[in-house]
Amino acid sequence: MQLDILTLFPNMFSGPFEESIVKRAQEKKLVNIRILNIRDFSTNKHRSVDDYPFGGGSGMVLQADPIARAVRHVDPTREARVILTCPQGKPFDQQLAWALAREQHLVIICGHYEGVDERVRENLVTDAISIGDYVLTGGEIPAMVISDAIIRLLPGALGGDNAATEDSFSTGLLEYPQYTRPEAWEGHVVPPVLLSGNHEEIRLWRRREALARTLEHRPDLLAKADLNQEDLKLLAEIEREREREGC
Ligand code: SAM
Repeated sequence: MQLDILTLFPNMFSGPFEESIVKRAQEKKLVNIRILNIRDFSTNKHRSVDDYPFGGGSGMVLQADPIARAVRHVDPTREARVILTCPQGKPFDQQLAWALAREQHLVIICGHYEGVDERVRENLVTDAISIGDYVLTGGEIPAMVISDAIIRLLPGALGGDNAATEDSFSTGLLEYPQYTRPEAWEGHVVPPVLLSGNHEEIRLWRRREALARTLEHRPDLLAKADLNQEDLKLLAEIEREREREGC
């Protein structure tokens, strides 16, 4: 995958993109990341890329022209998915991450100040994406969030073959709880089934826990999840148990 990020603050990316899975994915050539400074595409001698909003109001707005030049520079054939980070965009989720992970070329535009001239969204952008219902100072952190979520899904990025497919949201449910050594920590012991070596019992226990967690914390996900007969039986059991406990 080719991933191009257009930003006013390229240095912000050095830490997060130089560690862990994102670093290794670049080393393994699963992704080639270029960070471009939008100012390099300004045509005026002060390298300015923003101006006052038409109609008045506070703050500055990023101009369309330097962004368009940058997009056309990295994607001259207009084949890439061009993402605008934007609090008004489509909510980013695991499903969208999977869809974007199948693309060959992504361009992410990081807004700043009061945002980006609307004509960018109308004429250059294929996807406006929000990472949540809050407003950040700039699109750099959203670009990191989106990139990280996508890169870890690229085939070969994670150690285990299906490590990402079991993550929360990938199955439509929250993931089951995880434990590691020691078996007893400050008097709290690991659920015995996980030490039993019985793979079928462990699978069933994990599925039940995933369903119970999702029911408790994100019941909205259950309505959309692809549940089989076994899941429905487990859910009925969980609900009966909760009723008995007065939840
Ligand atoms: N005035 C804009 C509004 O109310 O929609 C907010 C501008 S914000 C201060 C500056 C930039 O940060 C945005 O252009 C966008 O690139 C980025 N940004 C802020 N919050 C975001 C979010 N929740 N998701 C994605 N991008 C965000």
